[in-house]
Amino acid sequence: MKFMNILQYNGPWKFSIEETPTPDIHPEEVLVRSESVGICGSDVHGFTGESGRRKPGMVMGHEVVGIVEAIGAEVKNLKRGQRVTIFPTLGCGKCAYCKKGWEHICPDKKILGVNAGRWGAMAGYFTCHARQAFPFSEETDPDVGVLAEPIAVATHAVNLMNPESGSTIAIVGGGTIGLALTLVLRNRGFENVYILDKVDAKLALAAEFGAKAIHVEKENAAEVIEKQTGKARVAGIFEAVGSAGTIRTAYDLCDFGGTLVLIGNLAKEFTLPLQGVTSNETTIRGSYGFNRTDFGQAVELVSKNQKNLRKLLSGSCTLQETPKVMEELARGQRQAIKVVIHP
Ligand SMILES: [Zn+2]
Ligand SMILES: [Zn+2]
Repeated sequence: MKFMNILQYNGPWKFSIEETPTPDIHPEEVLVRSESVGICGSDVHGFTGESGRRKPGMVMGHEVVGIVEAIGAEVKNLKRGQRVTIFPTLGCGKCAYCKKGWEHICPDKKILGVNAGRWGAMAGYFTCHARQAFPFSEETDPDVGVLAEPIAVATHAVNLMNPESGSTIAIVGGGTIGLALTLVLRNRGFENVYILDKVDAKLALAAEFGAKAIHVEKENAAEVIEKQTGKARVAGIFEAVGSAGTIRTAYDLCDFGGTLVLIGNLAKEFTLPLQGVTSNETTIRGSYGFNRTDFGQAVELVSKNQKNLRKLLSGSCTLQETPKVMEELARGQRQAIKVVIHP
């Protein structure tokens, strides 16, 4: 029997390193050796107990690149030794949402490292259904590969908006998702991509990714955009912060007949001028996570944009160092875009 180390969650602010046998695999599953595991904001909120979905005794980790170590008897599409990243969601496969390919909004979905039983990726090994494993090219750096998740979030939002080619697009918020949106849009040939933020470092990075940066406290976004494009409003705008104020900023920049896609979700509620929304025919839609199609597109984009994406990595740690890193992240003592664990 083979043993492995796991990072076990024991309730709010408590982790321990345990040694356990590697998990058994079902006929339709694969056993994956974790190479790089991203620490997600949702893991940090799970660690502090702010979100109640992660139960004591479980192992977190859903942003992962690893090597297939063993395959179940019924698995045909994967080989041992193959590098893969994981589509973290497994829908029930039976409901109306799953049948439409909307596994990510299936009410009975299981998410690796969240509610899919005990095993997540912050461990030497973990198991998942074979259809969750997406092969990565050998040349893909596993650390960069964990960024397939934020890229997939951005890909999903762009696919939902489906902007007309050549249109001017804006993004409110230059965090990981804002930068991921920039990369996806630039890769699809959009030239005029504006990003709004108030942190110089974020804006500088956004400019490196190919966006036109606007400092919201030093510049008037509508004026800047009008000067450069001849129009003060944009056809499509993504809101990647989620506060009532930034949603209003986004709405105010949205052109007549334009689309506002909401991704950030910090605020409990927000208000918008009803007459404006109706008479301007604004399309407002939410975007959450990503489906398998989005994830496949993201995996492809990641392997082609490794140089830019590497700029989003802000350090790595071992499994043993992870509790300390999580604490620092939770207390805001460490400003990090993406820390990866090497189990
Ligand atoms: Zn995540
Ligand atoms: Zn379902």
